Parts: sequence; C-alpha cells; structure tokens
Amino acid sequence: MSFNFSKDNLPKKLFINNEYVDSKNSKKLTLTDPANGFLVADDVALAGEADVDAAVDAAEKAFPAWRKTSAADRRNIMYKFAELIEKNGIALAELTRITLGAPYGAFGAFEVGLASEAFKYNAGWIDKFAGESWPQEDGFLKIVRNEPLGVTAGIVPWNGPLGTIGLKAGPALATGNCFILKPSEKTPFASLALGALIKEAGFPPGVFQVLSGDGSTGALIASHMRVRKVSFTGSIPTGKKIQEMAAKSNLKRVTLELGGKSPAVVFDDADLENAVTWTANAITANTGQVCFAASRVYVQEGIYEKFIEKYKQAMKEKAKAVGDPEKEGTQIGPLVDEAQFKRVSGFIERGQKGQGKLLVGGQRIGDKGFYLEPTVFTDVDPTSEIHTQEIFGPVSVVRSFKTEEEIMKLSNDTNFGLMAGVFTQDINKALRVASEFDSGMVGVNCVSLMFMVAPFGGSKESGVGRECGVHALRAFTEPKTVMVNLTY
Ligand code: NAD
Repeated sequence: MSFNFSKDNLPKKLFINNEYVDSKNSKKLTLTDPANGFLVADDVALAGEADVDAAVDAAEKAFPAWRKTSAADRRNIMYKFAELIEKNGIALAELTRITLGAPYGAFGAFEVGLASEAFKYNAGWIDKFAGESWPQEDGFLKIVRNEPLGVTAGIVPWNGPLGTIGLKAGPALATGNCFILKPSEKTPFASLALGALIKEAGFPPGVFQVLSGDGSTGALIASHMRVRKVSFTGSIPTGKKIQEMAAKSNLKRVTLELGGKSPAVVFDDADLENAVTWTANAITANTGQVCFAASRVYVQEGIYEKFIEKYKQAMKEKAKAVGDPEKEGTQIGPLVDEAQFKRVSGFIERGQKGQGKLLVGGQRIGDKGFYLEPTVFTDVDPTSEIHTQEIFGPVSVVRSFKTEEEIMKLSNDTNFGLMAGVFTQDINKALRVASEFDSGMVGVNCVSLMFMVAPFGGSKESGVGRECGVHALRAFTEPKTVMVNLTY
C-alpha cells in the first residue's frame, strides 16, 4: 500500500487493523469545497457500531505486544511516521484544504509541521519518561511505573485537522497505548490518508487506526466500554456530552480541549505596532477559526484612538489577503462551510443591532464560496452575545478601559479560560496581570501561540487537562505503585 492520495483520488474508506476497509454502516459523509460550495464527495465512510467494535477489537489485540515493544523500536516507527508526514506534507495539506479552505502557506504548512514535530517530540520522550522510586529505609522499596491505559481514542475538530492528531496520537502511541483517531465529519481526508503512512512506518496492525464519521461515531467511542481514554478537542457542549458518556460507561479518562473567548489587554505603555500585529494576526489566522484566537481586545484609554486607527488599517490589509486558498499569496481562506458562514454572519448581523459599533468589515467577499471580511466591533456592550460568545470566525470586539483592576475583572468575567495576552513594557505589571488571568495560557507582548514543550489547554470551561510537554504523556498513562518487601 503506497501513498497515492490526492484531490483526484480521495481516501474514503476506514483504516482498521492496517487495512482500508468499507464501513459496515450504510450511511455516508457528504463534503463540500468552501472555496466554491461544490460537492467534493458524498460517499465517505461513516463508522457505525460494528466498525467501532472492529477497531476496538483490533486495538485490544495489538496492545499487549505494542506496550512491550522496545523503546528504540517504538521511537523508530514514530520517527519514520513523522518523516513520512513531512515527505507527503503537500498532499496531506491539499487533502485538508479541499474541505477546510486554509491556504498552504499561511496554515497548511504549519499544520504539517506541527503534526510531524509532535510525533518526533513524543518519540524522543519514550526512553526518558521515567517512573519514580522511594526510599527503602523502612524495609519497602516503592517503585512507580507509568502504565499505558490500553485502547485510547482522539476525537478531533475540523479547524486543525492535522495538528491536533499529532498532539493526541503522539503521546498516546509513545507511551504504549493503541490509538483510534476520529476526525471531524468536515475534514476527514488527511486523517484517512494517514492509513497508508501508518502501515509504511511500521506500526503493527491495530495500533493506530482511523475511523471517519460524525458525532454519532464520536459518541460510540466516548461511551464504549473497552475504550479507556478519550482525548477530545472541540466545542464546549460536545465536551460536556463526552465527559457524561465517559462517566456513564466505564469512567474512561478524558482530556478536553474546548472553546475560548480570549482577551488581549493592551496598556498605555505597550509597543503599539507589536500589539496591533499580534492581535490582528490572532483573529485572522485560519480565518479566525482558532480556539485560542484573541477575540476580545481591551485597550487602555490613553492609546485607544491610536490603536483603533492602526487595528482598523491592519484589518483592511488582512481583507486584501482573503481569497482562493489554491492561489499563491492568499493568506486567509473562506470559512469552513455554509453552516459556519451563516453562523458567523448571523453574529455580525445581530451585532449591528445595538450590541456594538461596526468599525470595519462585516461584508461577504465575492458571491461564491464562504468568504468574509475581517470584522471588528467597538463600544461593545459587555453583556451582548458578540462580547460573551465564541464566534469562531474573523470577528473581534474592542473596548477601552481605564484601570488595571477594572479590566482584569472584565477579562475574567467569563466561563472561558483558554488564552490571554498582556501588552505592556512594565515587567512587574506584565507578571502581575499574567498571574491574575483565569486562563491556561498567557502571552506577554504576544498572544494566541503555542509550543510543543509547554502545557497547552484551558481552565474553567475551556478544558480539562493539558496537551503538549510531559503533561500529554501523563494524560495517557497512569501511575502504578509497586511495593517490594525487602525484609522477606
Ligand atoms: P464539535 O464539538 O462540533 O466537534 C468536534 C468533534 O466531536 C468532531 O469530530 C465531531 O464529529 C465530534 N462530535 C460531535 N458530537 C459528538 C458527540 N455527541 N459525541 C462524541 N463526539 C462528537 O467542534 P467543532 O465545531 O468541530 O470544532 C470547533 C470547536 O473546537 C470550537 O469551539 C473550538 O474552540 C474548539 N477547539 C478547541 C481547541 C483547543 O485546543 N482548546 C482546538 C481547536 C478547536
């Protein structure tokens, strides 16, 4: 089996036990191209109960040998897989782009890099993720082993379809678990294409499998009695359902990476150019369809007018970079599909009816495809939906503030807690504010960014648990304490 997928040869079958197989379910997924609304396919496998069971059976069978595979062998397979992702990166990005609409230069290449780096980074941990041992002076040696969980699964969203795979499958497989990937119904192709690379890299059958499907497939996985862990990235309502299904089935472990409405706080003493650049990039990257996008921008009154002028200008420049994702130079593509376009347009429309003042944008671009101008509202009512809800498009709200105390209160007056940013040249203020934010991540003079080595995730309703760094390996293992009686 070699990798020969492209937009003219789409992968449409499930990948179970190292083979591409037809789904036993008669229902299929339908996909459209957001650049023009055209049908891409209406016959992509949607995994049902029998398919999920088949994958779990294969994973259970593979687990005993995989967990005992030597660290060097496991590392080599993961490295080879990472290299294969890089080698086929352009094709994988195309398979994503055809239904997500994200241009290669601005997003596709980043995602390919993130996925391959995640496999390499986690492979590097395999022989370094040590357990612990405790003093034996009392006659007992206590050894703590990091044990894999068994059959694990990743349910991922459409907005970062390749990157999120690496963040979940990387640590799961590195720690000796078997892993079932369930991509979003809106972006299944790159995930399904990985099957060929999984086999080529040398993963044994059943270790790494891919089940395309929709929420019904995700629910089968989340409530499965023999799946021991689900790492989920997606919306808060779905995350809540998954936690409930996990509790009601077998108390499987759950990691949740959920939505955000992240604040960026710009103080009078900030470097204006820097603050404008980061905040404008943050809300337009991937057409604003980014969980940790800085979508609330708070600017101190001393530089408010100047900031607004430059931010508006930056958004106008961004609007010029919106276009066909297939064209060279395009930075910002369409929204993912008609449903998302209508959702975001609805927020913009209602926002203009008394919630705030439209500063820039707000219009559809062109008459085909799902393109929108980057949009900013000012003077926003803090109780309005455009200020309180995750819009998940290129739409931000801006407000001015007087005091640090006032703005920290408003920043934290939300159930989200994913990312925050503070812009100032005063290091004391930066660190004080960073510790005050109720959020899993804070940028100082930067915002909406991540690193493989550092914990990634949200507080409050933005998530449970962390990805990246050693935290991801802990989330896919459980400590087992072995007590040795040395006096026996
Ligand atoms: P979604 O919750 O609709 O779907 C996510 C995944 O869950 C999909 O694979 C979907 O098929 C599956 N699913 C849907 N219903 C299910 C159910 N009942 N049981 C099990 N699985 C189910 O989210 P989305 O629209 O694909 O993604 C956008 C959301 O994801 C946004 O809220 C965004 O903020 C969030 N997100 C968070 C992060 C993060 O790391 N915190 C990263 C990216 C996206």
